[in-house]
Amino acid sequence: MTARLLTVDPARPDPDALAEAGAVLRAGGLVAFPTETVYGLGAYALDEAAVRRIFAAKGRPSFNPLIAHVADIAGARALAAEWPPLAQALAERFWPGPLTLVLPKRPIVPDAVTAGRASVALRVPAHPVARALIAAAGIPLAAPSANRFTELSPVTAQQVARGLGDRVDVILDGGRTSVGIESTVVDLTTSPPTLLRPGTITRAALEAVTGPLASPAEPEDEEAPRAAPGMIARHYAPRAVVRLLDGDDFADAVAAAADRDAPVGAVTWSPLAAMSAALLDAHHRLPAEAVAYAARLYDTLHALDDAGCREVLVERPPEGAEWDGVRDRLTRAAHPA
Ligand code: AMP
Ligand code: MG
Repeated sequence: MTARLLTVDPARPDPDALAEAGAVLRAGGLVAFPTETVYGLGAYALDEAAVRRIFAAKGRPSFNPLIAHVADIAGARALAAEWPPLAQALAERFWPGPLTLVLPKRPIVPDAVTAGRASVALRVPAHPVARALIAAAGIPLAAPSANRFTELSPVTAQQVARGLGDRVDVILDGGRTSVGIESTVVDLTTSPPTLLRPGTITRAALEAVTGPLASPAEPEDEEAPRAAPGMIARHYAPRAVVRLLDGDDFADAVAAAADRDAPVGAVTWSPLAAMSAALLDAHHRLPAEAVAYAARLYDTLHALDDAGCREVLVERPPEGAEWDGVRDRLTRAAHPA
């Protein structure tokens, strides 16, 4: 199977393309689509067989639950067994947007979506193509990132096609995504709620609504599946080996890597000395501001992979809670396989 690639203008989503993709989803097929975070690999969330196709296409272990994408608060409440005041407050403040809420699930949500858990993760995406697709399909869409398991999340339709082009029915091309890293995940089944995965919505912005949030407990056994799939130690990784380095160590690391005789790339937010730059096969300087950096991070790592870099040296991001999401993804990308 080769995916049908349909171009959809986010400013004026083409109703014919959306109707076609919606019909594929209702029939149990797989549609990759842009959200504001990364591209998602969608299937009808209440169709167990369709959801299993997501896991097969991604090579994703079945202990990893999926996020269900819905049109609005009513759509979320149709899947959640409880809707506490904090869910309402967070949804009103941050939806549509890059925030996922974990709540007790209703029985209609299949175990395949929740990996057998009693809770379901819910999000109302803001991307106009994602919203139009959910409306056209008229069903909730289970959708993890549209990449093979542990690989880098796609932020363009071309990156989806390269990784999954022969494993999905339709890819909707709505251009590059804007947020660039995965959603912030808050678990509302604990008291206080737990910030499961940092993203571009900061802890402070959440806590202004919820009060102090808990952090996930570190598992005692490194090999044990983590509480949440985004918490797997190696994840969000390009093909190249990623090394996270302090700015002070950068010049030495560049010199050492250049000696190793394989193409080396670098990602920094500080300026790079001309001597270091000359030793690199590729260098991307990203903005020294967290949201703007996140928007470009995966696309940059994809570009370095495409350029054939075997090693990518990444300058450790600045201190500060606004960098938590970026720091989390880079730490996991740099984790040894
Ligand atoms: P991904 O689809 O790879 O972007 O990751 C899905 C994210 O959703 C994970 O990182 C988890 O944090 C979260 N998640 C999904 N379902 C659940 C659930 N039932 N309980 C806790 N976390 C969940
Ligand atoms: Mg993913």
